[in-house]
Amino acid sequence: MKPHLIPYCFLLFVGVSLFCGTFLDKPSHADPLTGVRSMTTAGGGVRADSPKGRETAGMALVPRFPSDLSTEDQENVDCLLQSYPVILRVERDSTGLWLLLRSGDRVFYGPNVAVLPENAVLSSDVRDSMRVLYPLEPDRPATPEGFAPGRTRPYAFLMALYGRTAAAVKKRIRTVYALRQKWHFVPEAGEAFLRAAAELEGKCGKDPSLRSWLKSSGTFQWRRIAGEPHLSAHSFGIAFDIGLQKGAAYWRWSPLTSHPMQKTFSSDIVSAFEKQGFIWGGKWHEYDIMHFEYRPELICKALRRKNAGASFRPGSSADVVHEPAVHY
Ligand SMILES: [Zn+2]
Repeated sequence: MKPHLIPYCFLLFVGVSLFCGTFLDKPSHADPLTGVRSMTTAGGGVRADSPKGRETAGMALVPRFPSDLSTEDQENVDCLLQSYPVILRVERDSTGLWLLLRSGDRVFYGPNVAVLPENAVLSSDVRDSMRVLYPLEPDRPATPEGFAPGRTRPYAFLMALYGRTAAAVKKRIRTVYALRQKWHFVPEAGEAFLRAAAELEGKCGKDPSLRSWLKSSGTFQWRRIAGEPHLSAHSFGIAFDIGLQKGAAYWRWSPLTSHPMQKTFSSDIVSAFEKQGFIWGGKWHEYDIMHFEYRPELICKALRRKNAGASFRPGSSADVVHEPAVHY
């Protein structure tokens, strides 16, 4: 080789090496459940651009959940990670699986071996709170005893997410102006509510009778569930009530074991809120027709069951309208 060509050959070699190092030695694959692409590194971990892994200082790679979860736990955990970005990862110890949060809190997900509760319970671990599949609109199945998807709540998780005391939750509450009224939510639920409200404003334009169903009869309030020892979801700033003036009923106030409004309540309203991560209390045996509650992990799981592989990420809708409304 002529001596004056040596520097050019060297540069060519460096260029090819960099190209191969960047693109060729890291096989890329799509996660079969989430459809999200991730890249496996030489160390066998998963890069931060995947929901399965995050990169820590010094390039140590931490998997986001154990690799041997059951199919249903895998589905639950995927939905929890998608719905709550504050969850860093899921860890296992001899007692079971734990959600590790950005705050440093560890919340019990469930024992290593799932056990069905003998009776319907209102307070449970996270796995049990996701057990009964929530039916998405237009489904309005019968609600026999024991069918109340989402009415069982994982209180330790809700407290870690939103606050353990009235004062702690109150600090995070924001006023949202939408549908011609004030509402009070934690920011996560408030932003989802605004997206649903934007859709409903459009629907009210076509059908003005809807608006009379959209009057608030309560949002944030630190209180117990009527007739129960447990805290209401309203305590965490994730719930609201509508339709009370129109006769929306609560099971303890009504002699009916199922209520006609469980079938007739506007599907436009229910579906607008479901799309943004809210469940409706009209789909419970112990019906609460006026009640909606932000539980995006349940909507995520329902969507994935309904359309295999569908993913749900709160706030992912393309046509989100942020009204000049959220006051921080
Ligand atoms: Zn309520």
